[in-house]
Amino acid sequence: MAGQADIGVTGLAVMGRNLARNFARHGHTVALHNRTEARTQALMDAFGDEGNFVPTGSAESFVASLARPRRLIVMVKAGAPTDAVIDEFAPLLEPGDMIVDGGNAHFADTRRREAALRDRGLHFVGTGVSGGEEGALHGPSIMPGGSAEAYASLGPLLEDISAKVDAAPCCTHIGPDGAGHFVKMVHNGIEYADMQLIAEAYDLLRRALGMDPARIAEVFRTWNQGRLESYLIEITAEVLGHTDAATGKPFIDVVLDQAEQKGTGRWTVQTALDLGVPVSGIAEAVFARSLSGHADLRDASQGLPGPSGRRLGGSAAESFTDDVEQALYASKIVAYAQGVHQIQAGSQEYGWGIDPGAVAKIWRGGCIIRARFLNRITETYSGPDQPVTLLTAPYFREALEAAQDAWRRVVSSAAELGLPAPGFSAALAYYDALRSPRLPAALIQGQRDFFGAHTYRRTDRDGAFHTLWGGDR
Ligand code: NAP
Repeated sequence: MAGQADIGVTGLAVMGRNLARNFARHGHTVALHNRTEARTQALMDAFGDEGNFVPTGSAESFVASLARPRRLIVMVKAGAPTDAVIDEFAPLLEPGDMIVDGGNAHFADTRRREAALRDRGLHFVGTGVSGGEEGALHGPSIMPGGSAEAYASLGPLLEDISAKVDAAPCCTHIGPDGAGHFVKMVHNGIEYADMQLIAEAYDLLRRALGMDPARIAEVFRTWNQGRLESYLIEITAEVLGHTDAATGKPFIDVVLDQAEQKGTGRWTVQTALDLGVPVSGIAEAVFARSLSGHADLRDASQGLPGPSGRRLGGSAAESFTDDVEQALYASKIVAYAQGVHQIQAGSQEYGWGIDPGAVAKIWRGGCIIRARFLNRITETYSGPDQPVTLLTAPYFREALEAAQDAWRRVVSSAAELGLPAPGFSAALAYYDALRSPRLPAALIQGQRDFFGAHTYRRTDRDGAFHTLWGGDR
C-alpha cells in the first residue's frame, strides 16, 4: 500500500537535512530516512515542528510512506555509498518510481546508474545541487538530468524549493541521463576559475601596490557595486575584512596558504581533456591549488632568482586597481566561455540538447557562482544568432575590447614584478590564440611529420601529405 508523503529524503547529513526542511517549509509532506536512525531522530527533535515529516526507520517503511509514483531523493556520500543505497532501494520500488541522486556524482556514474535502472522501469535522476548547506535550506540552484517524464513529476517540487531570481526558479530540466551532473561539474570548474582569478586580483593589489587586506576588502566592496557583483566577490570582501580574534591579525594572514579540493574541478579538466575542449583557465585554477599544496617543492624553491618585494610606482600604481578590475572581468568572461564550450561539447557528445542560456539562467541564484553578468549569457543564447563562442557575442566583445589594454598591463606587470598570475595569463593567452589568424601549430605538424611520418594537411590542397625528410632516419 502506498503512503502519502510527496517526497522522501534518505541521507540526512547537512545537505539532506536542509533539503528535507526546505520541502517541508514549502508545504510538502516529507518522508525521512537515514542509515543511522539517530540522525532521523535528531532532525525530528530539532526541526520536527517546521512542517509535515514522516520519520521512518527501515528502507521498507520509508518506501511504504511515499505516494506513488514514488519520489525518493538520495543525499549520501558520492561514490560507493550511492550505489549501496540504490541497491538497497531499487528492489523495493515499482515501475515509474523515481530515484533522485542529489549528491556530487560523476556524470559517467550517473549515466551507468540511469541505464541500469531504466532497464528495471525506474527513473534515475542525477541532479546537481549547488549552494552548500545554506542553499539547500533557503533555495539552491538545481540541475536535474534524467528523463523528461521524470521531470514532469519532479520538476514542480524541485522548482518550488529552488532559489528564485526575478520570480523565475533556479531549476530547469538540463537534459537526459547524466546531463545534470555534467553541468554541475562544469559549474564547479568555473567556480574554481572564478575563485582563482579573485585570489590573483587580491595578491596583485597586495604585493604590487602594498595595500593591506582591510583596504583590499574595500576595493572588493566597491567592485561588488558594479558589473562584477557576485556572491564570490561579496564573500571575498568579508574574508579580507575579517580579523583573527586570537591574534588580532588579518584573518587571511593566519590561514595556511595551501588550497584544498574535493575533486569536481579535477573532473572538469579530465573530462575537458577527453572531449578535446581547451579549458585552460579552469585547468590553471586546479593546478594552482595543487601547486599551493606542494610544500616541499615550494620550500626548495625559495632561493630561486627573480624580482621580489618590488612594487609599482607612479602613474602605473595609480591606475592599477582599475586595471585589475578590467583584467578580472575579462578573465572571468574567458572562464565562462570555456565552461560554456565544454557544456556544448558534452551535450553534443552525449546527445543531451543542453541550452546554455537556460543553464546560465538557473545559475543566477542559489549557487556559488551566482553573478549579475549571467543575465548577459542568458541573453546571448536566447536570440536566433548564437555565437560560436561567448567571446564574440556583442556585449562580451565590447567588454573585452574595453578591458584589453588594462588586462595586458596587469599580466605584464605581474611578470615584471615576479608575481604569479596563472589565471589572468592563461585567459589572455587563450584570447590571443583564438584571435591569431595563424598559429604555430603548423610547425608542430611539421615536427610530427618529420619524426613520426604523422602527415599534415595543407592550406592550398585537400588530403594528407607526408614529406620525405632528408638524412638517415
Ligand atoms: P556526506 O558527509 O557527504 O554524507 C553523509 C551521509 O551519507 C550520511 O547520511 C551517511 O549516513 C550517508 N552514508 C554514507 N555512507 C553510506 C552508506 N554506505 N549507506 C548509506 N548511507 C551512507 O553528507 P553531505 O555533506 O550532506 O552531502 C551529501 C551529498 O551532497 C554528497 O554527495 C555531497 O557531495 C553532496 N553535496 C554536498 C554539498 C555540501 O556543501 N556539503 C553541496 C552540494 C552537494 P550515516 O548517518 O548513517 O553515516
